[in-house]
Amino acid sequence: MPKKDAELETKLVHGGFEKDLETGASNVPISLSAAFAHDSAEQISNVFHGRDFGYVYSRIANPSVVALEQHVNLVEDGRAAVATASGMAAMAILIESLASVGDEIVSSKSIFGGTYYLLKEVAENQGITVTFVDTCDVEQYRAAISDKTKAIFCESIGNPKCDVPDLKALVSVANESGIPLVVDATVTTPYLMSAKALGVHVVWHSATKWISGAGSAIGGLIVDLGHFDWRVSKSEKIATLAKQYGLLAFVNRCKRLRSNKGAVLSPFNAFLLAQGFEHLAFRMKAHCDHAMALALFLQDHPAVESVAYPGLANDEGYPIAKQQMRYGFGGLLSFRLKTPKMAYQVVNALKMVKNLANLGDAKTLVIHPASTIYRDLSPEDQKAAGVYEDLLRVSVGLEHPEDIIADFQNAMEDLV
Ligand code: PLP
Repeated sequence: MPKKDAELETKLVHGGFEKDLETGASNVPISLSAAFAHDSAEQISNVFHGRDFGYVYSRIANPSVVALEQHVNLVEDGRAAVATASGMAAMAILIESLASVGDEIVSSKSIFGGTYYLLKEVAENQGITVTFVDTCDVEQYRAAISDKTKAIFCESIGNPKCDVPDLKALVSVANESGIPLVVDATVTTPYLMSAKALGVHVVWHSATKWISGAGSAIGGLIVDLGHFDWRVSKSEKIATLAKQYGLLAFVNRCKRLRSNKGAVLSPFNAFLLAQGFEHLAFRMKAHCDHAMALALFLQDHPAVESVAYPGLANDEGYPIAKQQMRYGFGGLLSFRLKTPKMAYQVVNALKMVKNLANLGDAKTLVIHPASTIYRDLSPEDQKAAGVYEDLLRVSVGLEHPEDIIADFQNAMEDLV
């Protein structure tokens, strides 16, 4: 087991798991069992009451899932983590754990389409008011907060706009109002950014993406980073739970919601995600290098209007990204072509790069966001999210960078 102060790469590889105590298995076994047996009625009741540690039913807790939660929490240096069926399940649980009817949420506008649809749905059907703001305008966040606001949401790098909010400044705004800053760090991953060091209160990931690394499993993760005192939470249900669970009230509320909604991660997917997590560091370094090489190529191409990648020195997000990130600027970029027609032409002409809705795969992926993920947004909302008819989003993979660039070069050859 790595020491608490071991380097990040070591923590990623070893996690908190030594070996299976019965068999000596060095990987966390996949506990594909719905229920867990106990020796007596008293014993199972004690586990249900939380008087004894143990497992009873996989919708409440499962050993393979708990092992992943502990591993991720170790790497994030958090208070505790909660794994969920998907990234969207994590977000749904987060919203419901923090806000109720009559409450308000302030959210960045440049967020993943699914998150946007969920927030709109919550606003229309669950009596929660959501105010959307420009992710880079700290004053807009501050102005949107009222005494009913229960949380601020944003992405560490906006998908697909690739804009970068100043998280330290947003932590200050959140602290002024005594509410948590909740950050979707899917694109930065626990490797490229320490959300804890920036003061962020809660971080969440679509583990489906770079944490998996292979596009093989859907999963989500929520991590309480330990900066927020839930005993004085403005969210009523958390404040009530804090009387019993103290600082673990938020995590407890998330776990209850996960169980009540059945939004659990399958043990099999926990295993796949844990395998990916072990080599996150080395994959991310390559994703960053390859994305940078492609961004530089695209930037000089005559058919390209603009490139959004926070690693480019002339990108608006570069100064903040340089402060907040480490080891590189991520594997996501987007670019605008000179005409909307060209965007479809490029997608159709690419031979190796796949036209997929995923992110964070070993393979390079491209998608036309306006006609797919963001199709239901009004033109104004699309623009606010950085989505245009001429925009393509690329998740840059682990192939040799020269092959990635060559595929784009060939696909874009006849455009101008
Ligand atoms: N957050 C971001 C930034 C995403 O890109 C996605 C999915 O693409 C999600 C959240 C949702 O995660 P999932 O697809 O695992 O539900």
